[in-house]
Amino acid sequence: MSARLIDGQAIAAAIRDDVRGRAEALRAAHGYTPGLATVLVGDNPASATYVRMKQKACAGLGLRSVPHVLPADARQPEVQRLVEALNADPSIDGILVQLPLPGHLDEESILSAIDLEKDVDGFHPINIGRLAMRNRTPLFIPCTPFGILRLLEETGVTLRGADAVVVGRSNIVGLPAAMVLQKADATVTLCHRHTRHLARHLRHADIVVVAVGQPELVTGDMLKPGAVVIDVGINRKPDASRPNGYRIVGDVDFESARAVAGAITPVPGGVGPMTIAMLMHNTLRAAERHAERQRLATLLPAT
Ligand code: NDP
Repeated sequence: MSARLIDGQAIAAAIRDDVRGRAEALRAAHGYTPGLATVLVGDNPASATYVRMKQKACAGLGLRSVPHVLPADARQPEVQRLVEALNADPSIDGILVQLPLPGHLDEESILSAIDLEKDVDGFHPINIGRLAMRNRTPLFIPCTPFGILRLLEETGVTLRGADAVVVGRSNIVGLPAAMVLQKADATVTLCHRHTRHLARHLRHADIVVVAVGQPELVTGDMLKPGAVVIDVGINRKPDASRPNGYRIVGDVDFESARAVAGAITPVPGGVGPMTIAMLMHNTLRAAERHAERQRLATLLPAT
């Protein structure tokens, strides 16, 4: 058996088309363009690249991006003041604070300072809390886990009652991915560095999400036949046959997994394109909510 490929490029392109159309409709109806503010603290090259990719995605969809860059030694009050100014700016619909922040900054306080309505990255503690709890609905779901959910939806796999294993419990991917799956009524096992018998857990899983950062950690012999496999990892593996001396591989050994799984994401071209597409989706939703609040304010002026 060879698994069906889950085409993240195509699914992300459809999401971007939807955002482009809705942004156009918003402009036609309300005369304004959704705005995403990005906040980059320091000069971490990977973070700078991610922020540039997000700005480029905005430009391609008719969204405004407003970049803010603070020096690596920016103090806590300076970052908080910037976030508060962006909260108060009616031309900004979404605020993205690029993580990780330099170690001297209190990440939780900065994320808590973001207006919930502008928390398009979904990391405000209230949004995360709502994602975790029953009978609560977050305003925004973090972009990579949201992208994973969309990929799973596209496969047609039934999430309710499915046995799901998430490998990796980082705040930005693994943990919120597990929370999304449990909210969708899957039975979720969350594995990490101290998990004994990883393969034993994986072998019973209908759905496997791997977000570890270790090249090809999960191999086909660990998987249940027919499992749906979402590989979040992005790793460089030395490859002398390539001009740059490496190739990009995931956290799953693609060839052996493909022979066992029912459906699988490739790396690259699986989860990667989804993260920014979901950020665009969240920003557009924030702008639509903003427009609706303004419309109501016009209908119901304060007395
Ligand atoms: P982190 O390093 O923050 O977290 C890694 C997690 O993996 C930790 O929870 C760690 O456990 C766990 N882990 C490490 N080794 C093992 C092991 N041998 N067995 C089981 N669990 C293990 O990574 P991120 O979550 O930020 O990223 C994971 C991968 O996803 C990376 O390759 C990254 O590049 C990629 N990524 C891709 C994105 C995309 O858009 N496609 C977006 C974000 C990340 P413990 O908690 O015990 O330390």
